[in-house]
Amino acid sequence: MTDCLFCRIVSGEIEADIVHEGAEVIAFRDINPQAPTHIQIIPRRHVPKVGGFVAEQDSAWLVELFSTAADLARAEGLEAGFRLVINNGPLAGQSVHHVHLHLLGGRQLGWPPG
Ligand code: 5GP
Ligand code: ZN
Repeated sequence: MTDCLFCRIVSGEIEADIVHEGAEVIAFRDINPQAPTHIQIIPRRHVPKVGGFVAEQDSAWLVELFSTAADLARAEGLEAGFRLVINNGPLAGQSVHHVHLHLLGGRQLGWPPG
């Protein structure tokens, strides 16, 4: 989708600090990091939000999303702990309507989240 910010990062039209490029997902550093490590892991395809997944069509990128998160957490030295977050919908503060998994770590993370 040409009017989607994250699709434009996938296509290379908008620059990002990309840390991983896989078959189904890419990962890049957040422009406004909320922790020493703050990486966005996203499907290459445009998926607006969690919900309405078709299991067969979506299983590959869903598996790769989480395996990439685990690999990046290891690569970033986050053995002591990290958090994976998906803000879904307006009440959760989703601001980019292309599913993205936040990988946060490198400091003590508070709970509950705000
Ligand atoms: P949300 O609020 O939708 O869960 O998360 C959107 C995230 O995308 C935010 O953490 C925000 O800082 C990040 N973001 C927004 N625009 C850009 C951008 O142009 N480049 C990068 N790297 N991150 C962005
Ligand atoms: Zn998109």
